[in-house]
Amino acid sequence: MTYKILQNYSNEISRCIKCGACRAVCPTFKELLDESMVARGRISLAKAVIENRLELTSGFDNRISTCIDCKACVANCPNGVKVDDVILASKAQIAKNRGIGSIENFIAKQVVRRGWPMAYILKAVGMISKRIYEPLEPDSILSSLLPFIANKKKRFIPDLTESPFLSRYPEIITCERPKGRVAFFVGCAINFMDQRIGDAVIKVLKKNNIEIIIPKAQLCCGRPLLSLGDRDTTLYLAKKNAGIFSRLKVDAIVTACATCGLTIKGEYNKIAKDKSLENFSVRLIDINEFIVNNTDFKKGLNPLEKKVTYHDPCHLKRGQGIDKSPREILKAVSSDGFVEMKEADACCGFGGLFSFYHYSLSARIADKKAQNISDAKSDIIASACPGCLMHIRDALNRNEINIDAKHTIELLAESY
Ligand code: SF4
Ligand code: SF4
Repeated sequence: MTYKILQNYSNEISRCIKCGACRAVCPTFKELLDESMVARGRISLAKAVIENRLELTSGFDNRISTCIDCKACVANCPNGVKVDDVILASKAQIAKNRGIGSIENFIAKQVVRRGWPMAYILKAVGMISKRIYEPLEPDSILSSLLPFIANKKKRFIPDLTESPFLSRYPEIITCERPKGRVAFFVGCAINFMDQRIGDAVIKVLKKNNIEIIIPKAQLCCGRPLLSLGDRDTTLYLAKKNAGIFSRLKVDAIVTACATCGLTIKGEYNKIAKDKSLENFSVRLIDINEFIVNNTDFKKGLNPLEKKVTYHDPCHLKRGQGIDKSPREILKAVSSDGFVEMKEADACCGFGGLFSFYHYSLSARIADKKAQNISDAKSDIIASACPGCLMHIRDALNRNEINIDAKHTIELLAESY
């Protein structure tokens, strides 16, 4: 059997010196203390596959799909092994040889590629959630059959019944004396799940006299498909989005989602060398960076009488090297002060589809984050990724910790 995709990473794999430094930082290893659940073990398994000592078994699939892509191993590896790239290549190899599953394939081809069916499907899921899931007692027999239960608490599911964010705003939002013009890459989490973040982005940009273009035809960034190993659909979405955004005369393309930002800036170029993708990627900027570097955002602020702490999204800090600008915003908006929490940059356990397929492991990782948030004794936990915030709310609810979880830009919008 040949494994061409993985073989392209043979050199990267051979750079692992088996030192084990990744064991100290890998969240899945820390929970399970299992050598096959850490970067070193996962790399060894990928090597065994290339050398035909191991097939693409369900056990291999499990070790690869339980990697959260938190990049803690990459940041702490003395040899700079790109473990994250090897994991994504392993996923792509599994998908190529075995497919991604019929339901996932249907969703990729018929729903995500088209865009518009997403709104209807998620609305239906939202209705079912409200009518059937929410009223269920967590200790009922039916609940015990559900995958999303941890510590006898049901997973927090956001309201999916609202109309999508993209349908609520015009494509162009002007202002009287514009100082600049940006396009807004919204992303699925804000479009369908946490629209308050999108509302805050609009308010903050308008307040700073920035005109906004929100193309209605924009699609998913492709991250969930990339995580499934479906590079074809990811590339299809990347090219569609690049085509839409590259036509716009704007100073930058902003996003308020750390994962969308990393995918567009850091992953598209790994699946294809393409000029239009490059032009799209280089113009994309995280909203925190844009606000801090391009506006006089502190002017006209009424700081909140709240103590705030911050969780670094893995895909923002280690994925894009951004950790200062969110803190600069939080220090400006909190009159009661900003407080650092313990292990602020430790993964919250979300990982997109990771938390869908491996909820109990993901909840255990999130419980540690919830404890650190509680110990910081703040009124608000802020972050800069809608996915992290959703997962943190779930963990706070499960651990009965009464602290608000908000996006940095929501807090800035509230301070104006
Ligand atoms: S830290 Fe890097 S070199 Fe050391 S075992 Fe982990 S992946 Fe290999
Ligand atoms: S990316 Fe995170 S979860 Fe995956 S191997 Fe590295 S440290 Fe572990």
